[in-house]
Amino acid sequence: MDHDEKTMSLNERSTLLPNFLEDPNKKHLIDGQWVASMSEERIDTFNPATGAVLATLSRGRTQDIDRAVQVARRAFEGPWRLFTPAARQQVIMRFAELFEKHFDELTLLESLDMGAPLHKRLRAGKSGIIQTILYFAAQARNIGGALPHNSLAGNVTTMIIQAPVGVVGAIIPWNGPLFSQMHVLGPVLATGCTAVIKPAEDASLAILRTAELLLEAGLPPGVVNVVTGLGVEAGAALAAHPDVNRLAFTGSTQVGREIIKASAGNMKRLQLELGGKSPDIVFADADLEKAVPGVAMGVYSNSGQICFAGTRIFVQRGIQEEFLDQLASYSKTLKVGNPLEEDTVLGPLISQRQLDRVLGYVRTGQDEGASLVAGGSRMGGDLAEGYYLEPTLFGQVTNAMTVAREEIFGPVASVIPFGTVEEALRLANDTPYGLASGVWSSNVNTVMRMVHGIQAGTVWVNCYGLIDPAVGFGGYKESGYGWKGGESQIDGYLYQKAAYINGSNV
Ligand code: ADP
Repeated sequence: MDHDEKTMSLNERSTLLPNFLEDPNKKHLIDGQWVASMSEERIDTFNPATGAVLATLSRGRTQDIDRAVQVARRAFEGPWRLFTPAARQQVIMRFAELFEKHFDELTLLESLDMGAPLHKRLRAGKSGIIQTILYFAAQARNIGGALPHNSLAGNVTTMIIQAPVGVVGAIIPWNGPLFSQMHVLGPVLATGCTAVIKPAEDASLAILRTAELLLEAGLPPGVVNVVTGLGVEAGAALAAHPDVNRLAFTGSTQVGREIIKASAGNMKRLQLELGGKSPDIVFADADLEKAVPGVAMGVYSNSGQICFAGTRIFVQRGIQEEFLDQLASYSKTLKVGNPLEEDTVLGPLISQRQLDRVLGYVRTGQDEGASLVAGGSRMGGDLAEGYYLEPTLFGQVTNAMTVAREEIFGPVASVIPFGTVEEALRLANDTPYGLASGVWSSNVNTVMRMVHGIQAGTVWVNCYGLIDPAVGFGGYKESGYGWKGGESQIDGYLYQKAAYINGSNV
């Protein structure tokens, strides 16, 4: 693409902006209607690239969540019930088509709202997101039950029936809302449930727009509702609501604990995808040409704001110095910049609060004796107004240091040396988290030992960050429970019921 084409396509995309942001004062989408909060209160949402207010959102509270849950319950009992699996599949397929058609616009909204590099997302994101929703479209036709042969006396037929759980609450994070929402919309629509979605207050716009497209696709009003607002208000009200049957939450482990407590009232089912401190382990026999960029992007993608970021980089002694040098040089080539520019690799962090938090960790790392090998500072110049941070790399880290123990959620990587395979395994597992992991080696025995020994929901070998909806994703330990994607996720949206039918009396 030459320069003119780049500029043109950028301008073209920017002209899409007014469509949804023409009126920047957004409302909730409840029962197919845009409605203000009952209190009429609003909150600002910022463009992290500039620090300017991008739009305002309705500040939902308990009464707005109540209203949306009631609507979702009515929709669950209403015409949506009569949709056959084929009809549900058709709606999902129509939605997938519309989503694809509006993908540029949705991605632009997401990018403006949370700072992900637009062109990187446009190149990489489309097929992954569309494939996810299409996977669930196929699942809609795949829901059955069972007729187990029993050993009861007489003429008793036994059946296992599966039925949608009902109203699902979903609390979505800000670090990739377009993708995250698919793991709720997919199983909700495939099984015939209904939903109330509470997007993150920092990145609600793309989700509001998606909900509009669902209506255009022919989904009955009230099946998917979106209530915006703060986590501690709207989010907490949804987690505690007595008429929500299931709650899907993706976010921090700390908030995950609150959700568990809030859910106890009506014992709603939970699916929790929480924090991580994932190990990415490089053995001396690894192909470094692949490992250096693979490990770097495993932690710096999305400016490190990914739950499965490979932030603890274990490097075998022998290649440790060479690897650290190469990683530092590579990190300096990554262009940090405005997310709308074609060659930007790292955008800003989501908020001033997040930037301050991450900079706090950089200081702690230095105070505890880690050596700052690259980055560590907020960007100045043209980028000074946004929340930009250089890709940051620490050497001489031990697994006991704060930067190796706590989830930072920013572009901060720590390199930790190890000697043997067993030591790598012990260090990798020495964490309260267990979301994901990476292994770089050309030795099949090493690879197999790690694949079986690492206590994490995903092990990537000679790659990092691949996700397929048929395979799924979930965590060990304090990284949460429940599986996203795959057939077992569908199970979580269904109640099982056993029926014993005594034919001898009929
Ligand atoms: P972060 O602190 O990085 O924003 P969170 O885990 O707090 O990550 O946020 C993830 C989602 O959880 C957001 O949609 C947020 O609004 C919501 N949230 C935050 N606190 C609570 C809470 N106490 N109860 C329910 N939802 C919450």
